Amino acid sequence: MSGNIVSVTDPNPRAGAILTVDLGAVVANWTQLRDRVAPAECSAVVKADAYGLGVPRIVPALAAAGCRTFVVAQLEEALAVRRALEPVAPDAQIFSLGGLPAGCAGDFLANRILPVLNHLGEIAAWRDVAASRGEVLPAVIHIDTGMNRLGLGPDELDALAAHPEWLEGIDVRYWMTHLACADEFDQPMTAEQRDRFRAALARLPKAKASFANSSGIFHGKDHHFDLARPGCALYGVNPTPHLANPMRDTVRLDARLLQVRHCAPPMTVGYGAAHRLTGPARIATIGVGYADGYMRSLGGKGHIIVDGVAAPIVGRISMDLITIDVTGLPESAAQPGRLVELIGPHRPVDQVAAEGGTIGYEILTSLGRRYHRIYLGG
Ligand SMILES: *Cc1c(COP(=O)(O)O)cnc(C)c1O
Repeated sequence: MSGNIVSVTDPNPRAGAILTVDLGAVVANWTQLRDRVAPAECSAVVKADAYGLGVPRIVPALAAAGCRTFVVAQLEEALAVRRALEPVAPDAQIFSLGGLPAGCAGDFLANRILPVLNHLGEIAAWRDVAASRGEVLPAVIHIDTGMNRLGLGPDELDALAAHPEWLEGIDVRYWMTHLACADEFDQPMTAEQRDRFRAALARLPKAKASFANSSGIFHGKDHHFDLARPGCALYGVNPTPHLANPMRDTVRLDARLLQVRHCAPPMTVGYGAAHRLTGPARIATIGVGYADGYMRSLGGKGHIIVDGVAAPIVGRISMDLITIDVTGLPESAAQPGRLVELIGPHRPVDQVAAEGGTIGYEILTSLGRRYHRIYLGG
């Protein structure tokens, strides 16, 4: 589903580009996933500044829609999410996936952040904090079922199952695990991880369980457990790459056309003279570059939409500039000062990513700091 973000008129002539974030679309995406996983709960993964869209706007919008669990990667991010939640949903819970950094227990407690304990050392450390305070302290515990990045490995799981007293003083709110291949729907690994997770849960003290990321949700009910953790799908990345995107687009990026020039062979365009003209051409230059997160790997590969038509990027992408070939367009369509579409209804995030040899996640989380940002709805 695309085309839901209306085109942009130029709100800030000082900025090279305008980034429009549709908060209504983000909320609609969360609501769709919430309904899909019900009666399980649906959290929102808002790490990396809500996948580049901006925690201060995304988090309150989702909280107002009823989201009560937020997931980040680092404690510093968790503190920013807590600040964003304070006026809207002070009761909401926040998971910090990156474990329990040394010396930070007080920050977790003072700000009511749940540490995700990833190994036995962190479990022991949290148990010690609980003992020293004479309190029972909440936490999430991560079981590794095949990713081999974070979480208790098989030996640690055996040890913990044999020593439930190691959890003394810890209120395990959730056992969680994370999927390695959820977006590959013909892969057996997701079902294998589900079975390993179930087997682990059967050996551990009873608590709620959290399993699915965005794509995991689309593997069906037996993958939902008690709490789903979607990230990318909230922001419009397709969680089912083999099917049409069930999510709404959430961002649109329009940049200013700075100059249009007539060129002819044997001229070349840009750094490294990487584009060699083969005939007379009109080349248009746009005020966005890799410093804005528009990846250098899109040079000579990507397309930018001018007046609804895809114009090829030619030559290398510079720090602040992109050159496109507009020879095929009427002169009136490509004029200095016009806005052209880098991401939007004609060029969804996933398509930009595919042209640049990456994934939509990386395009979103790289979105630049120089853009003039507009938030719609919310
Ligand atoms: C990033 C992340 C998610 C969200 O994944 P998406 O594929 O963006 O939905 C969920 N759980 C964990 C542990 C993560 O690191």
